[in-house]
Amino acid sequence: MVRYKVFIDGEFVESSSGNCFDVINPATDEVISRVPQCTAEDVARAVEACRRAQKQWRRFSPSKRADYLKKMAAKIVENAEKLGAVVTQEQGKPLPQAVSEVKKAAERMEYHAEWALRIEGEIVPSDNEKENIFICKEPMGVVACIVPWNSPFSILVRKVAPALITGNGVVIKPSSETPNCALEFAKIVQEVGLPKGIVNVVCGKGAEIGKAICTNPAVSMVTFTGSGETGARIMEMCSHNITKVSLELGGKAPAIVMDDADLDLAARCIVGSKTINAGQVCNCVERVYVHEKVAEEFTDKVMELMKKITIGDGLADPKVTMGPLINHGAVKFVDGLVKKAVEEGAEVLIGGKAPEHLKRGSFYEPTVLMNCRQDMDVMQREIFGPVLPIMTFKTLEEALELANDCEYGLTSSLYTNDLSTAFEVANSIEAGELYINRQQGEAINGYHAGWKKSGIGGDDGRHGMEEFLQTKVVYLKYR
Ligand code: NAD
Repeated sequence: MVRYKVFIDGEFVESSSGNCFDVINPATDEVISRVPQCTAEDVARAVEACRRAQKQWRRFSPSKRADYLKKMAAKIVENAEKLGAVVTQEQGKPLPQAVSEVKKAAERMEYHAEWALRIEGEIVPSDNEKENIFICKEPMGVVACIVPWNSPFSILVRKVAPALITGNGVVIKPSSETPNCALEFAKIVQEVGLPKGIVNVVCGKGAEIGKAICTNPAVSMVTFTGSGETGARIMEMCSHNITKVSLELGGKAPAIVMDDADLDLAARCIVGSKTINAGQVCNCVERVYVHEKVAEEFTDKVMELMKKITIGDGLADPKVTMGPLINHGAVKFVDGLVKKAVEEGAEVLIGGKAPEHLKRGSFYEPTVLMNCRQDMDVMQREIFGPVLPIMTFKTLEEALELANDCEYGLTSSLYTNDLSTAFEVANSIEAGELYINRQQGEAINGYHAGWKKSGIGGDDGRHGMEEFLQTKVVYLKYR
């Protein structure tokens, strides 16, 4: 068992209360680490250290800041296997998926380093004589990065890299389910010699230290990825000081499968989407609408692939294709949705229960539900598990209506070989992302941002990076 310390002002320290919490491996139910439970006092110390350090950091030349990012990227690559194992152990995804998450994080670091000399303001013409107007881009200051457990390493870097390159300092709060990889990241920060206080990691339950983070007047922005419920709470707390928020929240991604689609491709992508990270991905397929003419053929193909999924501890056996859910509470929640759907008329084609052969861990079988109806919870609430509810439709118009009938609007997907259908859906779907004929997976230079209750603001690419900047207009009058 590893005993971690939190990272405040460049040092690994205990919390001021001396209390700790346990981190559990969801594949084995074993305690794998103990981590300090921070207090409001610790948060205040981290924010103050960050505030002081950021004043220097923002004055560094952009290339100097970029050099630190490049060094961190190199260290992440060098330690990819080790960091991947930390992610698998605390989060559960099979090792190859975790290593790929870590490597993607390094790419994100490098991508943002390359922005160093490209963050530009504007000069606009003045309507007054002898006056110049400069629109300048400046860092926000201290940015709190609140991170979920599902992709704990990549989402952390997704926030930290753009924040740092734009001249901000960060206080990271990882999920209390997965703090280990954030504290391993802090070791890299220390190794590459980042100025003290620029990156801090505080740990603990969100309900206990969230308020101290979100209501601290020195925090200029909170960038959050997590559930809609917590997002709303954070927005409320940030309203105290009119603190800027960027919220990446839950989703309920529809997949529309047309009768002209390549059904092998559709089945492969949708099963891949639903089983990668055990379906605990914000943009994975959460509900399928398949044209009634091809529903049976499509479902047969889905079933064939679902049967090939192997479940287990992805650290002990990296060949398993699906790991556990994050905890037993998640299994109970997912199973509750399935049971309710069955009571209301859905048919379980495969799965629908925890696997009997695994005696430990929070596993759930890959599940396909047929005969679902739009009003069922399983078609409206985020499942966040390997459960695929399927409904049929007759016309594209109907499919679009069903896909848009949802409070979320994060991502969506479409399988068709017809260009007009592709454009019609692209122009009508109410979601921040549409994947046509492919499984989800955001580009680091794209923009990942939800519509409706899926969020405000977004991550990735130029637009995501610009969230970490504020604008100052300088009017210069001369004689
Ligand atoms: P969560 O909302 O429970 O927790 C996210 C983070 O918020 C954790 O660090 C948690 O400790 C913290 N937190 C909890 N209560 C808080 C409070 N009162 N104040 C401040 N912080 C608090 O979410 P989760 O269960 O960790 O993650 C799963 C959710 O994240 C899903 O809904 C998923 O769709 C969403 N998600 C969204 C995206 C996206 O890009 N849109 C990406 C990944 C995950």
